[in-house]
Order: sequence, then C-alpha cells, then structure tokens
Amino acid sequence: MAGCCEIPGRGTRKREPFTGCLLCGKPLRYELIAVPRTCAVCGEEKLSDAVCEDGHFVCSACHAAGLDEFFVPFLLRSAEKDPLRLLEAVMALPQVHMHGPEHHAIVPCVLLTAWHNNGGEGDLKKLLSAALSRGKQVPGGTCGYWGVCGAAAGAGIFLSVLTGSNPLNREAWPIPMELTSRCLKRLAEVGGPRCCKRTSRLCIREAAAFAAERFGVEMPLGEIACTYMSENRECIGTKCPFFPAGKEREA
Ligand SMILES: [Zn+2]
Ligand SMILES: [Zn+2]
Repeated sequence: MAGCCEIPGRGTRKREPFTGCLLCGKPLRYELIAVPRTCAVCGEEKLSDAVCEDGHFVCSACHAAGLDEFFVPFLLRSAEKDPLRLLEAVMALPQVHMHGPEHHAIVPCVLLTAWHNNGGEGDLKKLLSAALSRGKQVPGGTCGYWGVCGAAAGAGIFLSVLTGSNPLNREAWPIPMELTSRCLKRLAEVGGPRCCKRTSRLCIREAAAFAAERFGVEMPLGEIACTYMSENRECIGTKCPFFPAGKEREA
C-alpha cells in the first residue's frame, strides 16, 4: 500500500485510496439487485448493490468510520459562518473520501454549525448528535438507485433536526420535504452522474436560501472553485457550477 500523501490544502490522507474501492482503489460496479456481502473491513454481512472490480465490498459504516470523533469536535470549534467554506474545510479532512456516504452526515452537520454561527437557535452539540445519527443511516448510491441524493437527504435532516420533525409530526413533517424537493430539482437541472462534492455544495446553497426565507437566519455564501476534478472519474467538467474558470483543457 502507498504511504500517506500530502495534498495541498487538503491535509494528509490515510493509507487508503481516496476514490473507488477503499481496499484497492479500483472502480466500483453498481448492480441491479442488492445481495448479502461480507464487508472486507469489519467482516459483517450486509445487503449491498456495490462491489469493486476485484470483488471487495466495504460497508457504509466502515466508509464513514470515525466520523463522530473527527469532525464533530472540528465543527464545535469553528466560528465559520459560511456553510460552503465550512463544507470545504470538512471535506478536506483526511478521513473524507472523494465520494461516499460520509457526505450524507457532513451536509446537515455543516448546515447546523453555520446556522448556529449565524445566530440560529438550539444546542449545537445536541443538534449535531441527532444529525449525525440520522445522516449515518443514509446509505451510498441512493442518488442513482432511489432517486434521492444522500446530500439532499442530508439537507432534509438539517431541517428535521431543527424543527423536531418525525413521521408523526403534523406541523413539521412537510418542511424538510419541501427543502429536499428543491435540492433534488436543482441537482437534476445540473445533471449527472454522481459527484458527492457537487451535490453537497448545491444542497447547501439551497438549504441556506431556505433557512433565510423561512426562518430569517441569513448565512453568507462565498464562491467555490473545485479542486477535486482530477480525482473524480465522473467529473462533468464545465457543466459543473463549481468547475474553476480557465481549467477547461485539463478536464
Ligand atoms: Zn477492491
Ligand atoms: Zn464494514
């Protein structure tokens, strides 16, 4: 296995591939029907519709291993008000992969932190715990298989946690769904295939606009120029709103 590598502005990577299979780095194959597979990391048997070209399966829990320890303390220490800048800082942590279900928990936790840092109500530690436990349950591949991008579900989690929504809550129930539907509409407009960085950023933009409209909490949003293009096999190049200007030839 390769040693740790330093990526400018993005910390030191663990000794595992940044993209593709966590064991060997080969591309994943997505299949029609999920079958029980043994996770190559924890050894547990789980239903899975994704496997690498060499037959490895790594479960969502192992993909997001250590999420609680690595990024909740980081968010609790941060005074950043711009949720897009906060997202970039979290995605730059060495535990976060190019794609992966860890983004589904990162999106609501980043939004809740920015909400808090812009004067929004609530006990941030408790809000983050709730968002993390919900976000970790959203598996990978939902964008292609369920028609619900996990980052959009993460935006919904941001509001379900804030409003106290649950399946029986008459008042709060429609609110997260309205935001999730806006996120999904925007993601479909921009087009596919997957990119966990692009979808997370787009959902955060939608969520910030919604929070301002509905709850009067304004979050500043800066411009983001992506730095992940060369590591994303499925990058859509200049069709992506975050593709840096002048980089066309390298796409
Ligand atoms: Zn593999
Ligand atoms: Zn596992």
